[in-house]
Amino acid sequence: MSDTPPNPKSERTNVRRPDVMQLVSAEVARHYHSSLVEKLRDAGGKVTVGNTTVLLAKEFGFCYGVERAIDLAYAARRVFPEQRIFLIGEIIHNPDVNAQLRAMDIVSLPWRELDGAYDGLTEDDVVIVPAFGAPTSFMDKLESLGCRVVDTTCGDVMKVWRRVREYARDGVTSVIHGKASHEETRATASRALGKAGEGHYLVVLTLADVGKVTTYMMGNGGTKEEFLAAFAGAHSPGFDPDIHLSKLGVANQTTMLKSETEAIQRLLREALVERDGGDRNFSMFDTICGATQDRQDALFGMLAEPPDLLLVVGGYNSSNTAHLVEIGETRTATFFIRDASRLRSLEEIAHFDLHRGEEVVSGYSRALLGEGPVRVGVTAGASCPNNLIEETVLRVFELRGIARERVMESLG
Ligand code: SF4
Repeated sequence: MSDTPPNPKSERTNVRRPDVMQLVSAEVARHYHSSLVEKLRDAGGKVTVGNTTVLLAKEFGFCYGVERAIDLAYAARRVFPEQRIFLIGEIIHNPDVNAQLRAMDIVSLPWRELDGAYDGLTEDDVVIVPAFGAPTSFMDKLESLGCRVVDTTCGDVMKVWRRVREYARDGVTSVIHGKASHEETRATASRALGKAGEGHYLVVLTLADVGKVTTYMMGNGGTKEEFLAAFAGAHSPGFDPDIHLSKLGVANQTTMLKSETEAIQRLLREALVERDGGDRNFSMFDTICGATQDRQDALFGMLAEPPDLLLVVGGYNSSNTAHLVEIGETRTATFFIRDASRLRSLEEIAHFDLHRGEEVVSGYSRALLGEGPVRVGVTAGASCPNNLIEETVLRVFELRGIARERVMESLG
């Protein structure tokens, strides 16, 4: 298994031709750009019209990895106008962006399993690998089929892969802080098996998961079978907690909440020190990406003086967006909306409830009623385009009886 086989049958295609990228950048700007958001950013992230203020976090929306992935997907269609183009799963976790790619006749392939859909691919087909990457089994399959591969995997994700491969080489089990079913974590877990399949991994999502690991390490955690059942689907094949919890190396899905990852690192290290009398069997590497970190820090900055209401815009399956919601919820009334249409009226906000795992309707927006001053905070995950942020800002003002023109005037 390898990302760069010595004699690849499949062709890694570089679609970044200057002539193509010029066209792509105009097209991407047309689909996702917002002059209002640019002006708002230039104005320091604050616009007040009458008694209504909207605050925009200092860092929000598209990250460099997402911008690159979208550019490459658009470029693929321009470089291969006639070919069939496929995409493993979703390019990023945003329904609007994925709908645009579908409109360009880029067809999504299953990402959970390599099923029969892959058998029909040929050397003439182009397959785009999303920003999260794909498991080695998928890459090997594409190679065996000889497809043209446009790989948009983010460099920050590949950094994590390098680290877990080193763990595997050194006989260290990777403890991956992430969601076992998330595309990126699945891709990372496959690299944690090492080049020759010699490595092992365990995926932990919550502090409760880590508690199960540390309790077992101390000999108080039930049977091996119970442990494996608790982590079903979240450990490497052949994982044996009596053997593979000896040396641990922590890595994380790039979009996790930093404070949680730090707590996990601390708990595992403390357990190893207690068990082994030192931390020689513990390694860690902070693999939260800079873009995720910047968005979390910027939100903490905005929340230093909490707004009356916080709107977090993004796809409901976006991990980094969900963590912004978790941060917001600790300080103010926070609503996770996929776009402006969820601000239905002053009586209703339809929003994703992280704890229930479904969209629910709340009457909280009544707080936007009346003449009194209102401050609304807005931020967005790394996969949310600026046009959706613009629509959200304008919808807030609209609900307060303020037209777009007045908002634009205020921004100069
Ligand atoms: S969130 Fe981070 S890891 Fe993911 S694409 Fe963006 S920069 Fe890359």
